[in-house]
Amino acid sequence: MRVVTRFAPSPTGFVHVGSHRTALYNYLFARQQGGKFILRIEDTDQKRYVKGAVENLLSSLRRLGIDYDAGPGKEDEKGPYFQSRRITVYRKAVDQLLQKRDAYRCFCTTERLEELRKNQMAQKLPPAYDGRCRELSQEESDRRARQEAFVIRLKTPREGNCVFRDIVRGDVEIAWSQIDDQVLMKSDGFPTYHLANVVDDHFMEVTHIIRGEEWLPSVPKHLHLYRCFGWNPPQMAHLPLLLNPDRSKLSKRQGDVAIEDYLKKGYVPEALNNFLALLGWNPGEKNEIYSMEELIRAFDINRIVKAGAVFDLQKLNWMNGQYIRSMENGRYLKEARQWVDAGLRDNPKIETALFAVKTAVNTFAEIPEKLRIFREAPRSADEEARKMLEDASVAQVFTEFLLELEKVPEIDEAIFKCIMKKIQEKSGIKGKQLWMPLRIALTGEMHGPELGYIVEYLGKAETSERLKGHLNK
Ligand code: GLU
Repeated sequence: MRVVTRFAPSPTGFVHVGSHRTALYNYLFARQQGGKFILRIEDTDQKRYVKGAVENLLSSLRRLGIDYDAGPGKEDEKGPYFQSRRITVYRKAVDQLLQKRDAYRCFCTTERLEELRKNQMAQKLPPAYDGRCRELSQEESDRRARQEAFVIRLKTPREGNCVFRDIVRGDVEIAWSQIDDQVLMKSDGFPTYHLANVVDDHFMEVTHIIRGEEWLPSVPKHLHLYRCFGWNPPQMAHLPLLLNPDRSKLSKRQGDVAIEDYLKKGYVPEALNNFLALLGWNPGEKNEIYSMEELIRAFDINRIVKAGAVFDLQKLNWMNGQYIRSMENGRYLKEARQWVDAGLRDNPKIETALFAVKTAVNTFAEIPEKLRIFREAPRSADEEARKMLEDASVAQVFTEFLLELEKVPEIDEAIFKCIMKKIQEKSGIKGKQLWMPLRIALTGEMHGPELGYIVEYLGKAETSERLKGHLNK
């Protein structure tokens, strides 16, 4: 069997990080199996259409390196496939259901349905259609259809349980009594998600549905549709929810949930993919850094976990930092430059400053703050730092350093390293005691970008001036 997976977003705004994870899992599984990964835009709900949402979605996928394929039999039409352009396919399908009486026209007005819902709520019953039009005669249904607006509903079984197997959840059982007679076609002639989704998954030869857990309760309706049409349903894997650290559902209120926000904030696409891939799937080994190629190889659909996965921003930041540190320098400089303030942008030594902060940032957005020490004279050090400058060894280190500095025409990161090695060998002073006073004297801070690059950036004259300033205090 040739695997076909799909990502089927509704273009209703931004791309939630959970949606991106869904796309990623579908992509990883298809690539791993040598199958196809198709992109289908589920845009039949005209009311929820948001301008620019599709463009936004496509550009996020592109930036995150997720490419999609043409579906089986559609080799010259790569997609994305828009449901709004396939309305006739759904109408034909629903006609078939009507003819077999697996679906029926429902003439109930919005007011009646509203009334029904209110009564059910008052009685603490779950809102559901009461089936008034379910058994209308063909004749009455045809007659009223000429004059009245109607929707088309699926006739779902009333008794027993729907039992199915989910790759993640195992055997699932849902009572048919909990399943409503789902509207398949609205009065405007547009299909609902449920109809269009099932019809497309069938005709697009989808073999595996991988999607968020929120769709699990819809599975009985879908399986019933497959049965009515006489089609074989695909296999299904419902992914666990993404959670906030307090284990509530990941929501906008507590931080960014749109993948675009993370891209805008300078997160590395590879890090985002790596991080999201591990939210809900456990590779079963210690390593946490995976390139896309490695993810494709390691991904195991049978190891997707059931429990909600906590979106831990600190972990993402850590991972992103790993990706920045190991980033090839050319790419790093190109990305990092975009975050430099106007005041430093044209500085001839900006690259040195950027190399200095490469190991000190977790996201590109931290760059302006970390570059502060290159823009301004060092702040006066805080008490703990000042105390470190009082140590007896400091004068010795600074004097030695200044002596060595005199011997070179100019200083760069490599020369700085040599000088430090020499001082260490000569004086026996090492580690924090050797490095920290220099850092404090040069930057006013105890932590920060790489000292070698800072010194290279400051140059011989400025470095020597700052150190002398401390010696003469
Ligand atoms: N259009 C649905 C969504 O926006 C797709 C769900 C599915 O994958 O079946 O999530």
